[in-house]
Amino acid sequence: MIIDSHVHLYAPEVAADPRGWAEARGEERWANLAAPVSGPRLQGWSDIDTLLSDMDAAGVEKAVLLGWYWDHLETCVEQNNWYLGWIKQHPDRLMAFATVQPRAGAEAEDEVKRAVDAGLCGIGELSHTSQGFSMEHPGWIRILELAVERGLPINLHVNEPVGRRHPGRLQDALDDYVWLADRFPDLKLILAHWGGLLPFFEINKWVGSRMSNVYYDTAASPLLYDPRIFRTVVDAI
Ligand SMILES: [Zn+2]
Repeated sequence: MIIDSHVHLYAPEVAADPRGWAEARGEERWANLAAPVSGPRLQGWSDIDTLLSDMDAAGVEKAVLLGWYWDHLETCVEQNNWYLGWIKQHPDRLMAFATVQPRAGAEAEDEVKRAVDAGLCGIGELSHTSQGFSMEHPGWIRILELAVERGLPINLHVNEPVGRRHPGRLQDALDDYVWLADRFPDLKLILAHWGGLLPFFEINKWVGSRMSNVYYDTAASPLLYDPRIFRTVVDAI
């Protein structure tokens, strides 16, 4: 069975006016990526019916909808609610992760509990560099402990530390993810976009011995990498 584990989907009102929708919520950072005023627009828009027919055409049986790493908890709640509605309509095809802003502290933890109790099955996609929290932020630690306690996977957006400069690429310290894997060995950690090429550092013995619960997803491969990435990373890990 093929499961696409990294799909972003938005409500129709977002596709109709992405910039207006985002600005009304103070989510300019997302607007600048998804609907820039000038420059190339890489973001495509879809709805549930198009997603399902695209999945059929590609032989994909199920998809996991991932939230965006919003600045504000209120926007996370809004997206989690879209996803709760869509997985109820298509429980045989769709699963979804809850998004959250860990800087919101106890409210963030409560939102993850609410969303997971209602049917979401993981946490993400989050980005500490974009959302502005450190790996040791107390609100983030609470989310991590909750994820371990409930067996929830966490998907993190990882930037490639070397590459073309583009608005979506913030300076990421790959060491942070190794710290996380080492500090939380029972956490199911998914590092998106090939973990920013962190897999190559698994050749380091100390790093490699700490990555047994780390998974890499291949989202955005055609935008970032030559197809050799698939074979090369498999060989590295
Ligand atoms: Zn991402």
